[in-house]
Amino acid sequence: MKTLQRTLTIIKPDAVRRNAIGDIIEQFEKHGFHILSMKMLEISKHQAEQFYAVHASRPFYDSLTNFMSSGPIVALALEKENAIADLRELMGATNPGIAKEGTIRKKWASSIESNAIHGSDAEDTAHFELSFFFAGYELAK
Ligand code: UDP
Ligand code: MG
Repeated sequence: MKTLQRTLTIIKPDAVRRNAIGDIIEQFEKHGFHILSMKMLEISKHQAEQFYAVHASRPFYDSLTNFMSSGPIVALALEKENAIADLRELMGATNPGIAKEGTIRKKWASSIESNAIHGSDAEDTAHFELSFFFAGYELAK
């Protein structure tokens, strides 16, 4: 049975620089995601390191956290039945070279790092990531 879920997505600095905010948000709405809350902001290198702490030991961590703190991002809390898996499907593969036609990364990603969008990958990470960017009152209906 599908249940109503919330997930966290980020329009990354590369997509903001390419004026893709409107197109990506349109995709969310067309695919049935309800926008609960949204904010445009910049994060520091330290904040990016906290957000991506799960990847701290990976070789791409330093470059990834520099990239994520390189300019404005847009963080959105999305709600939909099966939101977590459905957003991952709409995003497409991490590597745009193998992202499917019709996905956001196929259209907007320019490399495996500058891949336009982030989406939570499971219920526990969605919970952590939503509360990283949004206070409880910002998600209250
Ligand atoms: N990334 C990278 N090089 C890699 C793998 C990932 O630069 O080899 C970056 C990329 O921006 C990716 C992020 O690190 O979106 C987080 O990686 P993850 O494996 O969690 O991919 P995602 O869940 O974003 O598809
Ligand atoms: Mg991930």
